[in-house]
Amino acid sequence: MNSDCIFCRIIKGDSSAKFVYKDIDLVAFHNIRPDAPVHVLIVPVEHIESINALEERHSALISKMMLKAKEIAEELGIKDSGYKLVINVGSGAGQVVFHLHIHLIGGWGKI
Ligand code: AMP
Ligand code: ZN
Repeated sequence: MNSDCIFCRIIKGDSSAKFVYKDIDLVAFHNIRPDAPVHVLIVPVEHIESINALEERHSALISKMMLKAKEIAEELGIKDSGYKLVINVGSGAGQVVFHLHIHLIGGWGKI
């Protein structure tokens, strides 16, 4: 937990978000500024700054995040219409929240 981190505050319940999933390892919530009709962020509970900070011990967690992305895509009805999974790594790539997250983006055909 890093109290300067917006995603840690959301996970702790100190800041609000529209959750689509929560468990002991990861959460998922709607992006406050969506770039598409569906734009969900899949976020580990552990404060990991980025892919660059990943360690071997995170292997199962990363795998779980990818599988959860697929499940959420299915639940939100965009599994077959297509979606993107994006991870920005570092400010040069556009990362602005330094708590690892996968963007699940899609639903263009729905609206
Ligand atoms: P990135 O550029 O990969 O670091 O993406 C960070 C994303 O977090 C941006 O798309 C923001 O719109 C989103 N974001 C920032 N603050 C919040 C928040 N309080 N709730 C939901 N999404 C947020
Ligand atoms: Zn954090």
